[in-house]
Amino acid sequence: MGVKIDRTKCCYCGACVSICPVNCMELKETRLTVDNNTCINCQACVRMCPVGAIALQKELKAKEE
Ligand code: SF4
Ligand code: SF4
Repeated sequence: MGVKIDRTKCCYCGACVSICPVNCMELKETRLTVDNNTCINCQACVRMCPVGAIALQKELKAKEE
């Protein structure tokens, strides 16, 4: 499980950090980190991100195949 952040798109608004139900995202100034071991793939952050910078790792893999 887990998400991937496109750091070229992220504007550090913190919306994903606020919405994550398991608090696995952390934003420190301009550094956003995700604990993918804790992530439950709820996609709340994917839907919340205003710039579409977050994708589920599962989906990224599907695109690659
Ligand atoms: S998918 Fe859900 S659990 Fe995972 S980082 Fe996003 S909001 Fe948190
Ligand atoms: S919601 Fe999107 S733009 Fe905002 S901090 Fe999270 S990844 Fe970055």
